[in-house]
Amino acid sequence: MGRRRRRRKIRLKPRRSLPKIFQCPRCGETSVSVMIDRRKGVARVVCSNCGLEAEFEYNPYLAEVDYYSRFLDAYEEGKIGVEEEEESREGEESEGEYYGGEEVE
Ligand SMILES: [Zn+2]
Repeated sequence: MGRRRRRRKIRLKPRRSLPKIFQCPRCGETSVSVMIDRRKGVARVVCSNCGLEAEFEYNPYLAEVDYYSRFLDAYEEGKIGVEEEEESREGEESEGEYYGGEEVE
């Protein structure tokens, strides 16, 4: 018995809005996600680690990685940045000595 095999596999299709994570040009962490809001017609690229973010016009022909590359370009051109809070102390602390930056999800 048992010859009736059901070969139907239900595959969960990944949603298009599934965030993909990219590496941040600013902090180097792989924590940049692309969020597409079709209602507003915008694609937001945000680094959850350092807060770097940019917003682009949503284009249905572009994939997340395309917005990410625009994000990189915009960063290279100095168009985007993080509004850093002004602190009384000057001089940036070196982040190179801190090794605890790896996050396991
Ligand atoms: Zn970052």
